[in-house]
Order: sequence, then C-alpha cells, then structure tokens
Amino acid sequence: MNISVPLHGKVALVTGSTSGIGLAIAQTLAANGAQVALNGFAAPDEVQAIISDIEKNSGLKPKYFAHDLSKLDEASALVGAVTDEFGKVDILVNNAGAQYVAAIDEFPDEQWQRLLAINLTAAFATTRAVWPQMKKRGWGRIVNTASTLAFTAEARKAGYVATKHGILGLTREAALEGAELGITCNAVCPAWVLTPLVAKQVDAKAAELQYSFEETARNYFLTDMPTRRFVEPGEIASGVLFLCSDAAKSITGIALPIDGGSLVI
Ligand code: NAD
Repeated sequence: MNISVPLHGKVALVTGSTSGIGLAIAQTLAANGAQVALNGFAAPDEVQAIISDIEKNSGLKPKYFAHDLSKLDEASALVGAVTDEFGKVDILVNNAGAQYVAAIDEFPDEQWQRLLAINLTAAFATTRAVWPQMKKRGWGRIVNTASTLAFTAEARKAGYVATKHGILGLTREAALEGAELGITCNAVCPAWVLTPLVAKQVDAKAAELQYSFEETARNYFLTDMPTRRFVEPGEIASGVLFLCSDAAKSITGIALPIDGGSLVI
C-alpha cells in the first residue's frame, strides 16, 4: 500500500504558533509532511524546544520568525521573510490572537487598536502578501482561526467579538476572490480551548469568586458547552489539516465550528 504524506512538499506559515492552538496546528501540519514556519512570542529556549520537538516527530526542521503582528509593517513583511527562507508559502494559517476583557465604556483605545491589529489587520496583511504567489502556482490554502464568538457575542469582549466577526468577512471575501485561482480560504471556529489565553480568563474569574480553577471552569466557562469539556488544541489542528488537504479543494468560505455543540444551544 502506498501511504502518501498529504502535505509533503508544502510550506506552511502558522502565525501565533508558539503556544496553544497554533502550536498544535504547526505540529500537526509538520507531522503530515509540511515544512513549517513558526511565529509568535516565546523565550529563545522555548522556541528551541518547539523546533526540536517538531524536528524529532517529522524529520523536518521548522524555522522561527519573530515578527510582531501588532505592527502592520512586520505583518506585511512576514510572508516575504518565510519565502526567502523556504522558497514559497503554500499554506497560511492566520491564528495569532489576543484578548482583552472590559465593558465598552471602559475599553481602552490602545487595547481596541491592539486587538484590531493582531486579530484582523495582520490576517489581511499576510493574505495580501501571500496572494500573488498562490495565484501564480494555482494552489493555496488559507485558514483563519476565528471563534464561536464570530457568530455570537459575550459581554465585556467588544474588541474580540468585533474582530472575530470581521475575520469571517475577510475569509468569505478571500474565498470568493480565490475561487477560480485554486486558493481556498476557510475559518475554524473553536469554542473554549484550555490554552494560556483562556487560562488567564479562568484565573481572573476564580480570583474574583474565590473558587478553585476547576469549579470556575465547570460553573462559568463550560456551562454553554454541551460536552462539558474544553475542546483540545489537537481537535482544532485536525480541522485545519482537513481544510488544507486536497479532499477539501471544493470547500471554501466556510466557518467550521469545532465547539462541542455550543452553537446549538
Ligand atoms: P495562546 O495565547 O495560547 O496563543 C496565542 C499565540 O499568538 C501565541 O503564540 C502568541 O505568542 C501569539 N501572538 C500574540 N500576539 C502576537 C503578536 N503581536 N505577534 C505575533 N504573535 C502573537 O492562545 P490560543 O487560545 O491558542 O489562541 C489562538 C487563536 O485561537 C486566537 O486567534 C484565538 O482568538 C483563537 N481562539 C481561541 C479559543 C480558546 O478557547 N483558546 C477559542 C476560540 C478562538
């Protein structure tokens, strides 16, 4: 039997891949044959540990790119830097994200601008930068990490909810413009995944209520999850892998909930 590695020969750039969901996506794409470009914040020894781990599991050595996606010039330059290193970018996963929790009338300008820059503008900048080469090759996969909060809202998350709704608009736009070019663009929409981004929110609520982390998670975070458990980062990564495969070549412009049924209730 001939077992082919589905992404062999492809180069994947995964933003925000030093932690959480992005790290799982980078690990999964590498394990399936893609050469991976990592990006995000992390100490040098953490980056080295991630690279060594991926290399051990895939035989492919990823490279790390420290570009700060809150800065438009760095976001715009990232695809070029990866292309200089690996020759191309076939798969772009816009995953880097940030959160800030405050009531609308207390939401600081700089936090609004930061969320807009990281969660939305950076994805536009990388998409614009990668477009010409994907168009030229007639093949491209773009996956944006949105959220179930791209469909719904949650109090005190104006910046996050607005940018996650926005990324769905960008996803659909790129899907339309890429449809005849061999470029697909889709979004994955996780519900609660226990990553540092969420652990901080559980910690803050637990401190406010004087409850344990577990009680707070169960009684305040997982109440809208029919499965009553956090989604695992690897489950999001599996969705991304499918959307990057040839089996998904006619799937474009979708927003795929990976949410334990939370959008049903
Ligand atoms: P995380 O905090 O574990 O990871 C975020 C990643 O983004 C890190 O690698 C971080 O270094 C990187 N990042 C942040 N600011 C950056 C910047 N300015 N430039 C470059 N990289 C930057 O969080 P996560 O939960 O894994 O989140 C990943 C994505 O998933 C985000 O887009 C988030 O909105 C989305 N999401 C998460 C959940 C959840 O429950 N965890 C649910 C829905 C959507």
